[in-house]
Amino acid sequence: MPLSLLRWSLLLLVCLLTWDALAAAPPPSRRPKAKASKLVRLPGGHRLHRDAALAFQRMEREAEVDGVRLHITSGYRSPREQRALYEQYRKGHGNRAARPGRSNHQRGLAVDLVVGGATSPRFAWLAANACRFGFRRTVRSEPWHWEYRPRITLPPLPGEDCLGRRVAPEPPPVVKNDPS
Ligand SMILES: [Zn+2]
Repeated sequence: MPLSLLRWSLLLLVCLLTWDALAAAPPPSRRPKAKASKLVRLPGGHRLHRDAALAFQRMEREAEVDGVRLHITSGYRSPREQRALYEQYRKGHGNRAARPGRSNHQRGLAVDLVVGGATSPRFAWLAANACRFGFRRTVRSEPWHWEYRPRITLPPLPGEDCLGRRVAPEPPPVVKNDPS
């Protein structure tokens, strides 16, 4: 029956094409997409994954208590933004940028901060404290690039900072005697 044979051949072709398409796609876990619903916008306008945003805001508040202001210059990047930065980098302009699809900026988990160099007070504060909020450095040559990686970022031991240095215990609160 030629008609039936044709129908089966077409079905087989569709199956093969679908199989090819599935086999060619990278596994879901390797796709660096941040779902739009998981992104939140911070007061400065940059977007981050909501977990990273919450952790960053806690870190920002604590830094401010210590007199350090954290300022983001880049948070979440769309694939198009990452591609543009990568193209600039390839042409010899701008900072090193990861290949599109390879950057944690595209997951909303990386922030670039104004640090003013690896010897600045801001950098010193981050190096000593960021691990307590799940942030770590991942690119040796980029002191401004910090990533929210709570699963592999251990908090410091009690009485130490993120660099393993002993920290002075908090002084007890001063209680003023009431003269009356
Ligand atoms: Zn970065």
